[in-house]
Amino acid sequence: MSEEQLKILLLAGGVGGAKMAEGLNFSSNISLTILGNIGDDDSFHGLWVSPDIDTMIYTLSDEINKTQSWGVKDDDYKALSFLSKLGNNTWMSLGDKDLGLHIYRTDRLRRGDRASDITKDIAEAFGVTPHIILPTDDIVQTKVLTDQGWLTFQEYFVKERCNPVVKEIVFDGLHVAKPTHEALEAIAIADIILIAPSNPFVSISPILNIPGILDALKECDAIKLAVSPLINGKAIKGPAEKIMISLGLRADSMGVANFYKDLIDGIIIDSSDAELAPEIKSLGMQVFCTNILMSNNSEKRRLAGEILDIAKNNNFPNEVNA
Ligand code: GDP
Ligand code: CA
Repeated sequence: MSEEQLKILLLAGGVGGAKMAEGLNFSSNISLTILGNIGDDDSFHGLWVSPDIDTMIYTLSDEINKTQSWGVKDDDYKALSFLSKLGNNTWMSLGDKDLGLHIYRTDRLRRGDRASDITKDIAEAFGVTPHIILPTDDIVQTKVLTDQGWLTFQEYFVKERCNPVVKEIVFDGLHVAKPTHEALEAIAIADIILIAPSNPFVSISPILNIPGILDALKECDAIKLAVSPLINGKAIKGPAEKIMISLGLRADSMGVANFYKDLIDGIIIDSSDAELAPEIKSLGMQVFCTNILMSNNSEKRRLAGEILDIAKNNNFPNEVNA
C-alpha cells in the first residue's frame, strides 16, 4: 500500500468520531472521507438539527466549543432566551450561530435538497477538507426504550442526561431508508475502513443498520479496523458502558470487539487493557494495544499515525502490499 493512495473511510458519531477525524486530518498523504451518523437528528423549534454531523463540521473547522466538545465557540443564547420566554422547551442548548446553520439546513430541506448535498455545501463553506458523507438522505431516528418509557435520542441524551436505564434501542424509519450513492461508492473504493471510538450502539449502529451499508462493508476489500471507545471498561464520555451493562453485554473492549466481530479485521485497544488481547484474538481478529486516549492534538495525531502504520504494516487477510 502506498500512502499517497490511501483512501480512509471513517465511520463516526459526534465527539469521539470528531477527535479521530482531527487526528487523521493531520496526515497529508491520505484522502479522508467521513461517514457520519444521522440517527441523532431531530426537529427543534421547527428546525432540523443534526448534532453528530454538526459536531464533526464544527470540530474540523475549528468552530467547536472546545470546553464542551460540542456547540460553537463564543456563541450566544439570545434566540434561545426569547424561545424560552415564549414558552418553548429549551433543554436542547442551541446557540445563535448554531441556529443559523439549522435555519440554513431546514430551509434547503424544505426546498427539496438532499441532506447529503446540504452537508457537503455546509462543510465546504466552513473550509472542511475531508468529505463528510451521510449513510442515507432519509430520516432515520434513534429511539430509546428506557425505564421511563420511550424517549427520542436527544430526550435520553440531553434532557435526561443518560440517566434512564436503556432497555432497547430502535432506529425509526430504517426499513424504508435507502443508502446514499456516496456512502456505497466510498465503501467500495476505501483502502482502510476505520470505526472511530464512537458509541457503538447509538453512533455506529445507526450507520451500519441503514439497508445496504453493512453488506457493502462486509463485501469491500478494505482493511477494517475499529478503535475502542472504552478504557478499563469505562467510556471517556457518555453512556457507552452504561448502555452495554443495561443491554446485558460485557462493558469492556472485549464487548466492543464482540459487537463488531463479523465486520472488522482488527481492533485498537488501550495498553491498560492488554490482558483482554488473547480473548479478543479468539474472536478471529487482530488486537493492537496503544494509548487510545486523545486528550490533545498531539495524542490525536499520534494515534491516527499509529493506526495508519498498523494498516500498512500488518498482514491482514485482504491486504495488498505495494
Ligand atoms: P457523541 O455522538 O458526541 O456521543 O460521540 P461519539 O459517539 O462519536 O463518541 C462517544 C464515545 O467516544 C464515548 O463512548 C467515549 O468513550 C469515546 N471517546 C471520547 N473521547 C475518546 C478518546 O479520547 N479516546 C477513545 N478511545 N474514545 C473516546
Ligand atoms: Ca451522537
